[in-house]
Amino acid sequence: MITAQKGTQGKSRKRQILTVVGAFMVAVMVFLFTKWKEASDNGGQLPLAPFRIAGNLYYVGTRDVTSFLLTGPKGHVLIDGGYPGTVPMILKSIATLGFAIKDVKILLNSHAHLDHAGGLAALQQASGAKLWVSEADADIVASGGASDRNMVPVNLLVYLGLIDFPVPRVDHRFQDGAQVQLGPIQLTAHLTPGHTPGCTTWSFPVRDGNRELLAVNVGGLTLPMPASLFDWNYDSVTKQDFEHTFKTLRSLPADIYLTPHARAFSLKRKLGERANAQDSVAPFLDRAGYLEDIGKAEVAFRKALQEQQK
Ligand SMILES: [Zn+2]
Repeated sequence: MITAQKGTQGKSRKRQILTVVGAFMVAVMVFLFTKWKEASDNGGQLPLAPFRIAGNLYYVGTRDVTSFLLTGPKGHVLIDGGYPGTVPMILKSIATLGFAIKDVKILLNSHAHLDHAGGLAALQQASGAKLWVSEADADIVASGGASDRNMVPVNLLVYLGLIDFPVPRVDHRFQDGAQVQLGPIQLTAHLTPGHTPGCTTWSFPVRDGNRELLAVNVGGLTLPMPASLFDWNYDSVTKQDFEHTFKTLRSLPADIYLTPHARAFSLKRKLGERANAQDSVAPFLDRAGYLEDIGKAEVAFRKALQEQQK
């Protein structure tokens, strides 16, 4: 009798332990899922007060993923949509500056990754703007990342097919050297493939007082991962692509250096310098930083090539 009771007690004890362990595992899974969802929605992005960089060029992005607004009398151009979850921050920034989202007539993209293309659909819906994407990235954008063959950490969930981002309507597909014009606003598309097959660097003149400055938003220079495999694990980006990219970027007489991630062009430092500067544009005139970063990316690329050849 006692033995039987012990047996029952043992069983219920085991059940209790299993329940606790099970509940713990469920809690961990819910926690991880929440984090995962958060990461895919807005990548943990925090808002940043919008500001004028120079002339008609404004910063409307977050503390890290960037969005740039170019304003004009015939409508505005917006470069990059952030994550799906950063759209409210971008919309608020545009409104705070006194501009209307409905006046954004053209949407552009640096490259077809979750953190820059994820918000395009919602921004297109809010504005009615036409979206321009390079031919080589267009299918990736139009599939919400599902056809992406390029693995970088931030895009891992998309690459693995676990999530995709809301699909915008791609209105125009373009090739290298395409010009986009809206009233006096003029942008040139420089294809700088490697980070994605159709990664696009946008250059555009910005008139600031008497100065005419060339702003260059470098599309992305990080190597696909693992770098040692990049020549055969996907078909669309080759060594020649990167060679073309470095050559193209070096040929651009960039004054204002911009990137899809604010940390890459040291936005925090530049904002600090700007607070004390007489000329608020001066901290953003950073040809040296632009060339330095191209140099660094090229070193990383050569190193990966060497490792691959070993
Ligand atoms: Zn990317």
